[in-house]
Amino acid sequence: MAKVSINLATGSLQKDEIIVGIDLGTTNSLVAFIDPDKNPKVINDAGKGVLVPSVVHFSEAGDITVGNEAKEYLITDPQNTVFSVKRLLGRSYNDIENYEDFFSYKVIDDNTESLVKIKVGDKFYTPIELSALILKELKERAEHALKTPVNRAVITVPAYFNDSQRQATRDAGKLAGLDVLRIVNEPTAASLAYGIGLNPDETKTIAVYDLGGGTFDVSILQIQNGIFEVLSTNGDTFLGGDDFDRAIIDYWIEKNQLDKSELIKNRELAQQLRLKAEESKKAFSHQSLVNEKIGDIWCTLDRNTFNELILTKVQQTIDCCRNALRDAGLTITDIDEVIMVGGSTRTALVKTMVAEFFERPVHDDLNPDEVVALGAAIQADILAGNRRDILLLDVTPLSLGIETMGGLMDVIIPRNSKVPTKAGRQYTTSIDGQANMKISVYQGERDLVKENRKLAEFDLKGIPGMPAGFPKVDINFLLNADGILKIQAMELRSGVKQEVEVTPTYGITDDQVEQMLMDSITHAQDDVSQRMLIEARTEGEQMVYTVERFLQKNGAYLEIAEISTTQQKVNTLKEVLSSGEKDLIHKTIDDLNEYTRPFAERLMDVAISTAMKGKSIE
Ligand code: ADP
Ligand code: MG
Repeated sequence: MAKVSINLATGSLQKDEIIVGIDLGTTNSLVAFIDPDKNPKVINDAGKGVLVPSVVHFSEAGDITVGNEAKEYLITDPQNTVFSVKRLLGRSYNDIENYEDFFSYKVIDDNTESLVKIKVGDKFYTPIELSALILKELKERAEHALKTPVNRAVITVPAYFNDSQRQATRDAGKLAGLDVLRIVNEPTAASLAYGIGLNPDETKTIAVYDLGGGTFDVSILQIQNGIFEVLSTNGDTFLGGDDFDRAIIDYWIEKNQLDKSELIKNRELAQQLRLKAEESKKAFSHQSLVNEKIGDIWCTLDRNTFNELILTKVQQTIDCCRNALRDAGLTITDIDEVIMVGGSTRTALVKTMVAEFFERPVHDDLNPDEVVALGAAIQADILAGNRRDILLLDVTPLSLGIETMGGLMDVIIPRNSKVPTKAGRQYTTSIDGQANMKISVYQGERDLVKENRKLAEFDLKGIPGMPAGFPKVDINFLLNADGILKIQAMELRSGVKQEVEVTPTYGITDDQVEQMLMDSITHAQDDVSQRMLIEARTEGEQMVYTVERFLQKNGAYLEIAEISTTQQKVNTLKEVLSSGEKDLIHKTIDDLNEYTRPFAERLMDVAISTAMKGKSIE
């Protein structure tokens, strides 16, 4: 397959254009490239700094800022400042309801199974759009620093990211105008940055310890023939350097006998303390005492006390390492290398405790907050075919997927996946009693299947009658080394199944593949906004269906006025669905949802009390 990319400014194809590596982090993001001397280098555009805080601020006037400037609003304008968006990427509200309090901005929960949205002012944003804003900033900084268009990238994700989180990351890249050549695991990238796994003859088992701002994860990887296999991952999604800062603040509050509830109200002071705590923590990398004042508050701390403050947190990460080893079925002696990743591994106590646990020196020569991006740049260089010593494995030139609600393409095997490969996903029905499910298989990069190439279509017949959403239909794609794609569909509750085979590369030329790739980049903006509109509409249609069914079945438990208001709101939603305005649709869904939520709760009470009387309601 030819490697092409498109210069968005001129529309022309470029053969030797740069490919950057991007670490899209929860706390900080950054971009790296391979310099003319063939060394990976992080980009520091116009001295703005290498790390771009993953924070987006929306001003009332509609200005959007990303990075350090946005970070300043975290405490002073929290409702309009989005941080930690990576935690929401590819997530449904069900996934996050337990830690909803963590977010200072509004996370919308109108449909518990669909992906979350964020409301800022009266606009709705998906985590994909917000991540795209961060990626766009990185792209622009790279273009400015390198004085060349940057259209292709490798982006890293945590090893534990599932399929939908990876797809969301790809979509964010596309929306930012980047052709995402590959999604790479963060621990794999870190390993490459240390040159581990570059030699195809080496076989190694490594541990990658990653302690960032708000998250901790440890991965055990096995490297064989240049292939990285994740043996296990472990961690804590709410443990990181921020906890160290909080421990310091709590210590100062206690020492100065401050009133915590007063402090929360004084945002300016809270912000100053937070900054001072982080600054002090970092200072311990090269000094042993901090002694400063904010107003009349003494901010004093020595390194030993700091170590005591964070000891239990660090101990928790060591417990995770032990669990990761156990899950991989290994012991400490099986580990050949330990790599330190994430800004918080600069803390001396962390390094010593990790080295003690694994009974070996750890790799910490590279900047821990830069290694992932550096490794991503190396992976990009390998994909560009610039490293002759490394063999490029066969890959699928175009994504393979199926059609879902509203004519959208749902990618199952992303382009550039190594062959052979298999992947699958579970689907369900949208109508009560649905007996057949049409499965249409497509190839291509566009969001709407009608713009892609149809490979096959078949019906999964004989699904026994069940309410909408009940059947579990597993669809699996198996692409073998000869390029034959086997598609299997099976309804798990009944065992009904169906299977077909196609050869995706049959009847398509390299030129056509190039054209399809080019179209996907030039239409990215349009495609994504169409996708979002269709998703909003589908969600709205489902809401109408559910509410109307609810009224039919349970009308008896509602007041007449409630029924008519609900019906009115349903009618408004029906009208709005054809408006083509995504935000308006979301707003109307939200409104209907808010209004009807108490009914469902009331019904629960009725259900419980009738159950106690020995009756049951439908
Ligand atoms: P993420 O991967 O979550 O985006 P990073 O790897 O950039 O995050 O890590 C950010 C964290 O690293 C922050 O909590 C920051 O305070 C911490 N950090 C940065 N430098 C140091 C240092 N010198 N000592 C201790 N912690 C540090
Ligand atoms: Mg990170």
